[in-house]
Amino acid sequence: MTALKGVGPKNAERLQRLGIHSVQDLLFHLPVRYQDRTRIVPIGSLRPGDQAVIQGQVELADIRYGRRRSLLARLADGTGSITLRFFHFSGAQQSNMARGSWLRCFGEVRNGPQTYELVHPEVQRVAEDEPAEVEQALTPIYPTTEGMHQLTWRDLSERALALLGRGGLDELLPAAVLQARAMPELAAAVRLLHRPPPDQSLRLLSDSGHPAQRRLAFEELLAHQLSLRVLRQRQRQRGAPVLAGGDSLQQALLDRLPFALTRAQQRVLQQIDDDLAQAHPALRLVQGDVGSGKTVVAALAALRCVGSGHQAAIMAPTELLAEQHLRNFSDWLQPLDIEVGWLSGRYKGKRRQAVLDCLADGSLPLVVGTHALFQDDVAFQRLGLVIVDEQHRFGVHQRLALREKGVAGQVPHQLVMTATPIPRTLAMTAYADLDLSVIDELPPGRTPVSTVVIADARRDQVVERVAMACREGRQAYWVCTLIEESEALQAQAAEDTAAALTEALEGLRIGLVHGRMKAADKEATMRAFKAGEIDLLVATTVIEVGVDVPNASLMVIENAERLGLSQLHQLRGRVGRGAQQSHCVLMYHPPLGGVAQERLRVMRETNDGFEIARRDLEIRGPGEVLGTRQTGEMQFRIADLLRDQDMVADVQVLADELLREHPRRVALLIQRWIGARVQYADV
Ligand code: ADP
Ligand code: MG
Repeated sequence: MTALKGVGPKNAERLQRLGIHSVQDLLFHLPVRYQDRTRIVPIGSLRPGDQAVIQGQVELADIRYGRRRSLLARLADGTGSITLRFFHFSGAQQSNMARGSWLRCFGEVRNGPQTYELVHPEVQRVAEDEPAEVEQALTPIYPTTEGMHQLTWRDLSERALALLGRGGLDELLPAAVLQARAMPELAAAVRLLHRPPPDQSLRLLSDSGHPAQRRLAFEELLAHQLSLRVLRQRQRQRGAPVLAGGDSLQQALLDRLPFALTRAQQRVLQQIDDDLAQAHPALRLVQGDVGSGKTVVAALAALRCVGSGHQAAIMAPTELLAEQHLRNFSDWLQPLDIEVGWLSGRYKGKRRQAVLDCLADGSLPLVVGTHALFQDDVAFQRLGLVIVDEQHRFGVHQRLALREKGVAGQVPHQLVMTATPIPRTLAMTAYADLDLSVIDELPPGRTPVSTVVIADARRDQVVERVAMACREGRQAYWVCTLIEESEALQAQAAEDTAAALTEALEGLRIGLVHGRMKAADKEATMRAFKAGEIDLLVATTVIEVGVDVPNASLMVIENAERLGLSQLHQLRGRVGRGAQQSHCVLMYHPPLGGVAQERLRVMRETNDGFEIARRDLEIRGPGEVLGTRQTGEMQFRIADLLRDQDMVADVQVLADELLREHPRRVALLIQRWIGARVQYADV
């Protein structure tokens, strides 16, 4: 960067802060918006919000002493007139503004008390009817950082564009690809976006719908897709154990289950079984709505692995969820004489060592746990399959770390399960290194949860409703939420609520779970709830994911306005698991902000996790939905996964084609757009 004239060490540092390290970065640092200073607009045609250059004669100028002293001038051009308003002004400015003088102004039009106004416009004095000498291109406004002025940006981009003329950005897309899509070449697109000619549509540009913008977004999405595909190809080239046994174990479990698999479960299990029978590592994402029955599919996959003489590891994101998997897996597999091991962060000393020993010597075929499974001292004798539940909290890097637990030269198969559905286009982009399966069917007999939204002023009625439900033999959850991240405060709030409810609901058996309880106590309470020995379970959002108690049919969520859509959907998914009609009461504390109102409305309108995910994406954007905003994974410079969804399908097809026919271009595209960020590309 410093080789560019005008970039000293100070500016170089500022540019670094914006992630600009090279001339190419600078060229991809596109204006956020544009101003049209290419023509003089008739005053009579101005509308509020317009930014425009106008020219006219001062008809009236006056200092007003209202609440604030201000200088007002009326400028007219024969088509109409407008007020110029200044709160700060020098004597020179005032004399500039004298009645009869000719001015050219640039500013944003606002609704004033009497007329349209320009507040503190840029003003230039001109000679009467001076011929318009205006800008030749739309004026770019760059995203900036402290100390960098727009003029500096314009200057820097001018120099970078000059270099572009001497063979900067090579065109990496084949001509036929561009032609088929009527896309401009990269260099032309970049040049246009930095200096749009006056005839370009400001509207298209500000909606990022201009062909030049789409051209860049397209290439970036493509490069991203390619980098993940390359990653997948490399993964494929490694060896993995062939897991083709275990038929009789799978059948034994199926025979013992009190239900038959849905068609969707069967289909996905078949896809997994096919994967596992290959000699290269599978990497598959299983999506399914809350309650679609992912756990049993995971257990059947684990049996295929164990039955083929290999070890399987099941990892969950929280202790509570891991404990529940442990319980499920133990219930299902112990009758088949398969021992299930347990590893969590809280499990220390001798007991932990004993599990580690059994994993290392291969005597333990299956282990359930939390992140603790990642730790360096965990070694397996013959790890064949890793199942990660609730995938979207794990990034690409973690996906890769686990497979290093395989035996020398062999990589375990990996299965990841999302608890929250992700819209298809987003999944195709974010998880392009994975194969996708969708369990798109709920087990039969489920009735959709009916949801109401109620202000907390009516709390008494809600308590009464809980009392009635429990007296009818049904079970209920009462979820306490707190903004504070602190587990201690959350726990305190839940304890207070439990105490208050115990008082209000005499005769009901009330239990409490929160994150600060001892694992054994939590477990005991959950077991009691599951066994029907507790009527009402007061809980923090620790029960958000995965908890499964089919008889529970009422859920109250306090301060529901504090939670995001996917969290609400997860929580609500704890009910509606049995055959009886379930209800969810979303209690809120007024006043409701616009976004919160929208979220609660979505919850009331639909139970469909994929639809909720789609709306969530619109409300929060991809980074939040994928949980990658902080990690920086999936961050695009130009593309926007929401706005550019329509290109994803095309990008997929083209990625295949380029990988087949233009491997050299693929490497260059990845280098250009992902570059150093793709540390994972050479593993
Ligand atoms: P999730 O996909 O949210 O993880 P779970 O695996 O916890 O869902 O399954 C939810 C409930 O549905 C569990 O009680 C499970 O035993 C039950 N279940 C799973 N598959 C079926 C099926 N095919 N028919 C009936 N119940 C099922
Ligand atoms: Mg689950």
